[in-house]
Amino acid sequence: MSRRRIIAGNWKMNKTPSEAKALIEELKPLVVNPDVDVVYCVPAIDLTTAIEATKGTNVSIGAENMYFEESGAYTGEISPNMLTDIGVKYVIIGHSERREYFAETDATVNKKVIKAFEHGITPIICCGETLEQREQGITLDWIRMQIKIAFQNVTADQAKEAVIAYEPIWAIGTGKTATAEQAEEVCAGIREVIGEIYDDATAAAIRIQYGGSMNASNAAELLSKPNIDGGLIGGASLKADFGKIVNA
Ligand code: PEP
Repeated sequence: MSRRRIIAGNWKMNKTPSEAKALIEELKPLVVNPDVDVVYCVPAIDLTTAIEATKGTNVSIGAENMYFEESGAYTGEISPNMLTDIGVKYVIIGHSERREYFAETDATVNKKVIKAFEHGITPIICCGETLEQREQGITLDWIRMQIKIAFQNVTADQAKEAVIAYEPIWAIGTGKTATAEQAEEVCAGIREVIGEIYDDATAAAIRIQYGGSMNASNAAELLSKPNIDGGLIGGASLKADFGKIVNA
């Protein structure tokens, strides 16, 4: 089964709206590739600008977070309706930085995933182990648990549309990339657990990205692996290198 590639940038807390517009203009000619879904996940305040600036291009816009309630007294949060109203198509859920600094858990990840699907937003669901967990030899057990919780009460039809980002925490923003073999081993394990939760068709359909210091020089090797369908890119999504990754 051939899965469509998906390369997503995670801008994190970078770029003002005017800087976002300039970066999108700079990247415009570099990210054209009809065989790849290209997504920029941008800070909430940049979303409207990014949607306007990418109109008529092959780029979709995603949020970096979203709350799991429809509306109400949740100061500082953004609801799914607010995202869909302006044309946001994707949302990153459970990035390790949100888990570390903003107390997100597997349980809140699951609530957000369910809410995203209810609103037709594609979740990019992050999972990943710490260096300590890798050294303890529990990487796959940990990831299997994260995936099982994230997908509770998610239907097979919804799961087929989901994107999972495998991001070893020790590789995020550190310049240390997982080897293509390490990344493939975990991405294959994720596909296996999706097959156990649902069925072979769902496992074959779901798209799995690698994330963690992916750049223009290591992308081609990582993306050549059979279970790696794309990348979630932090640092390198803020420069022209991103175009090289899209075309790797
Ligand atoms: C990320 O933030 O999801 C990420 C992978 O960052 P970086 O590419 O900078 O390691």
